[in-house]
Amino acid sequence: MKITGVTTYVLEELLKDKAFGWSQWVTDRRQTALCVISTDEGIEGVGEAFYIGGPAKIAAGMISDAYAPLIIGKDPFDNAVIWDFLYNRTRDQGRKGLPISALSAIDIALWDIKGKAKGLPIYKLLGGAYREKAHVYATGLYEPQHVPSVKDALVEEALGYKKDGFSAMKLKIGYGIETDMEYLKAVREAIGDDMVLMVDANHAYNAAEAIRLARKMEKYDVYWFEEPVPPEDIDGYIEVKQKSNILITGGECEFTRYGFRELITRRAVDILQPDLCGTGGFTEIMKIVAMASAWNVPVIPHVWGTNVGLAASLQLFAVLPHFPERRFPAKPFFEYDRSPHPFRNKVTHEKFIMKDGYLDIPDRPGLGITLDMDFVSKRTII
Ligand SMILES: [Mg+2]
Repeated sequence: MKITGVTTYVLEELLKDKAFGWSQWVTDRRQTALCVISTDEGIEGVGEAFYIGGPAKIAAGMISDAYAPLIIGKDPFDNAVIWDFLYNRTRDQGRKGLPISALSAIDIALWDIKGKAKGLPIYKLLGGAYREKAHVYATGLYEPQHVPSVKDALVEEALGYKKDGFSAMKLKIGYGIETDMEYLKAVREAIGDDMVLMVDANHAYNAAEAIRLARKMEKYDVYWFEEPVPPEDIDGYIEVKQKSNILITGGECEFTRYGFRELITRRAVDILQPDLCGTGGFTEIMKIVAMASAWNVPVIPHVWGTNVGLAASLQLFAVLPHFPERRFPAKPFFEYDRSPHPFRNKVTHEKFIMKDGYLDIPDRPGLGITLDMDFVSKRTII
């Protein structure tokens, strides 16, 4: 089989009155870059590039201008060879960020093709599923922009997740220790002690601030404290981890096996959170997972995108091993982004619906999804 074409789609929609804040800025739009790879056998694969702040059209440009010309004529089953080849071509000015997100989209599309060609879900090609469904936690509880009281709005949103059947949710923090504690107290008291509650600072603090906050948060039974310090500050992570009784997590801003090497080998986090659509796709993340398993650091992937990234992440979630293997292994949570996204669930014909706190992991070939091309074409801005 040979690759015959690569097409990119950049989708964007403004959030208007649903714009939401977090510790770094106010997100006023949702964007994504999708990539469709076609082959001479008529099989197509789709991938998504993770983006937070860099415009999605830059990732799409990397795909179409830097990578696509280099993979025409190659066999999708040579995905690992293709990965190293493409990485090396952008190594001098790439290595992290959007070039790797773009490479991730290509790699995910190649695995989609491989699965469809073999009639198997990707998790089968990766060695088989440890689980058939994903126990989810709600990612939300950002800072709404057009409400009389942020605290009241957070409480209402948190109660909504509880009512919907979630057993866990994640609160955004990083607005300053006093404000963080006010929001945390309000949410914890509203949802009760039975719900699992995580917090995420999106690297808003230095180590000293994060330690002070972690100690204050302990009484509210916070399950994990995500990205307390900037991703470059590995020593800060280690300091916070050593002085906090709350689990410390991070990794959504890290890339490739090279980037994760230090986080893993220096035991900088309690739980590693690579993003499949950002860190290099299936080919690369399985190398990160293998390294993490050797150091016995649990992996719980970061997930933030449309149904394409969600479907891909569910395939990955199926194959995550136990850390460690045992008679009664821990049941990892799957990140289920519930923050405003006008087209997350519209880009594919298949819909993902939570039932009793779980999402089913599709057992259809490849990613198990088909793009709704009518919708995708209409929303494409370039
Ligand atoms: Mg996060």
